[in-house]
Amino acid sequence: MDIKDKIHGMGEYSGLDFHSVVNICENENIKINDVEISGKNTLGFSSHKEIFLDWDKMVNYSSSDIISLEMILFIIYHEIAHYKRIMKIGVEEHLKMISNKDFNSFSNYIINEEMFADRWAKLMFYKFNRVILADHYMQPLHYPEIRAKYVEKLKRDHKILSSGPDKYQEVLDKYIIKYR
Ligand SMILES: [Zn+2]
Repeated sequence: MDIKDKIHGMGEYSGLDFHSVVNICENENIKINDVEISGKNTLGFSSHKEIFLDWDKMVNYSSSDIISLEMILFIIYHEIAHYKRIMKIGVEEHLKMISNKDFNSFSNYIINEEMFADRWAKLMFYKFNRVILADHYMQPLHYPEIRAKYVEKLKRDHKILSSGPDKYQEVLDKYIIKYR
């Protein structure tokens, strides 16, 4: 089944406006892929070409009450936000920022984009569902110690990304186990 049909189905099932996600993607020509993503914490990510979601993992987590349906919708808006920002910043500039050899510039860029995507997702959630999400939906990256932990984890990817312009695809590929 096409990922868009799965998302529409979730809209019927949950009463939340999952349809808005498909509408945004269709109106703005954003490609969504349903893929198996490695690691237990990553449910989605975006590149300058498309959005990737691990739909099965999202649904499984929601059936086991690990995450709510609201969280699934929030995450999808969050990934759309990343994609839209890359288009706005420009693909060339984005690629320059993520392959920046200076770790501080690189990590500041990533963190700012994360915070932006959370804010935009919260806004879209309100716009389409008329619900103001609690703050815990957003990554608390404004707390210095949490930000520091996040930055620490970025070091590994930075090492690869900063070693050459062709490394972005390599890093993206390592998160994808298989396409559905
Ligand atoms: Zn993000």
